[in-house]
Amino acid sequence: MTWSRYAAGAAEVVTAETLCCGESRVLHRPVGIAHAVPAPASSGRGHAVCGEPVTVVGGLDWQMVWGVTRCPACRQLAGC
Ligand SMILES: [Zn+2]
Repeated sequence: MTWSRYAAGAAEVVTAETLCCGESRVLHRPVGIAHAVPAPASSGRGHAVCGEPVTVVGGLDWQMVWGVTRCPACRQLAGC
């Protein structure tokens, strides 16, 4: 069985956040609309399957994107 693997990308990516107690934790989360980037893709700039230039979210699989809107064009091209 084979399936396409895609990394997640977005125009803006949060790489850290500060919790209310002042403690910071590292995270990698797309902001706004998430796009699918053809794998293998490491962190950095890339192009989503829909053609949008995006920043790749390191280590985040397209299938694992949660909490944000996923680009409809990427969903069609990459499968949701
Ligand atoms: Zn897209």
